[in-house]
Amino acid sequence: MKRNDSGALALGEVASIKVQAGERMVDVYNFAATNNITVVGGGEVNVGIGGWISHGGHGPVSAYYGMGADQVLEMEVVTADGVLRVVNEKSDPDLFWALRGVSGPQISILSSANTSQGGASNFAVIISVTMKAYDILPYTEYQYSYNTTAKTDTFWSMAAYFHSQLPRLVKSGLMGYFWVTPLEATSQDSSTQGRLYGTWYAPELALHEVQDLLAPMEAHLKASEWQDHVSVSGRGAEHADYMKKYARDTSPGSAGIPVRLGSWLLDEKALSKPTPVLEKALRGASDDLVDWPILGHVIAGPGTWSPKGGIAGGSNAVLPAWRTAYMQIGKSLTIRRLLVLANTLKSSSKIMGSPESDSEGDRHHQPPQRGCTGTSRLGSRYGRVCKRGRPDRTGLAASVLRRELRETPCPQGVLGSSRSVLVQKWSWK
Ligand SMILES: Cc1cc2nc3c(=O)[nH]c(=O)nc-3n(C[C@H](O)[C@H](O)[C@H](O)COP(=O)(O)OP(=O)(O)OC[C@H]3O[C@@H](n4cnc5c(N)ncnc54)[C@H](O)[C@@H]3O)c2cc1C
Repeated sequence: MKRNDSGALALGEVASIKVQAGERMVDVYNFAATNNITVVGGGEVNVGIGGWISHGGHGPVSAYYGMGADQVLEMEVVTADGVLRVVNEKSDPDLFWALRGVSGPQISILSSANTSQGGASNFAVIISVTMKAYDILPYTEYQYSYNTTAKTDTFWSMAAYFHSQLPRLVKSGLMGYFWVTPLEATSQDSSTQGRLYGTWYAPELALHEVQDLLAPMEAHLKASEWQDHVSVSGRGAEHADYMKKYARDTSPGSAGIPVRLGSWLLDEKALSKPTPVLEKALRGASDDLVDWPILGHVIAGPGTWSPKGGIAGGSNAVLPAWRTAYMQIGKSLTIRRLLVLANTLKSSSKIMGSPESDSEGDRHHQPPQRGCTGTSRLGSRYGRVCKRGRPDRTGLAASVLRRELRETPCPQGVLGSSRSVLVQKWSWK
């Protein structure tokens, strides 16, 4: 950790922290908490910094500070020529820009099969990441649960109404995670098995401010003439230090469960659809496995739209849809159901998991054709980095790009044994 790092100070922060690529979030969080600073990291504390940051990286407070990739001040990387390079906005701006979000289709997979592909290793292997660090962050944490009878019209209407309220709540500074569970099988009481529940994080807001923000929504939930009874419960508390609380109270999530996750970003336009449209979309997304919840990640907001203090070098390769997104919606099992949701919303929401950069995409999305000519959203900048796919520099990248992009053959015979490893690794098609 470096207090008064000039790079961090220039962006209005208090310090920088240099994280080795092998570190997990939990190690970073514990270090930050002990040193009275706040860093942006993933919600899951077992996630590693390398894959997380290189495909964007969201977390509990990304809606306040910005994406993980927006925090990066400098990286140490090894390019395919075996050279250790310090990459920042001055030393190698294009590579620096691309590494912060450029990964190919990256699946956040909760199954045992490892089908992830892409990653920053397209361009270089990240050895360390120097990130912005912020002062201690006071916040309010608020847990809520809205229950009704399982799988009823009331449940879906209530869920749709809740989604319609998100733009106002996000603009007001709320963020967090919620679960839309049409059938909470662990509960015995059928009148409360339809459950929408979650946690709000409210940086710099007092408990009474959070309650005031939620009051109109909760009043509506209580007072509406639903067919079935809706119960509303919630409780919150103010905390002096987000980092200490999150590091102490968060246990690792599970991997290896036999489902897979697809996800989309939803913008204001999508969430402002009439509630019957939202309701149809949510029902449609849920039919496969009714007892697996729809995941609501409210991890986009003012901070991802305009990162606190700005982005080193002015911009990076984070999927542009993050700059207008309000939430990431995810559903276990099948992308087919997510496509139903997206088609119903017919919004400008972007598919996550295109070969463009994202956080938690899905390999079943069809990558558009693009090549080293720079026709992708990365534009000429992508072309500039891609053109460096020559033996002395990023031969590793060249092979992966050729495979992913399915066009524009890049130099052959430069990878030696690493190439055959890669060919095996990427041969799932
Ligand atoms: C249970 C669970 C919860 C998750 N929660 C979140 C979350 O809250 N927020 C979020 O944004 N994401 C989340 N994810 C997705 C997660 O961020 C990605 O799976 C990410 O790739 C994990 O990083 P890793 O370094 O551990 O990945 P790995 O699986 O080790 O690597 C993934 C890819 O990243 C590349 N890569 C990794 N390290 C490097 C490196 N040092 N240099 C170059 N390339 C590298 C590689 O190309 C590799 O193919 C979650 C995933 C799981 C399974």
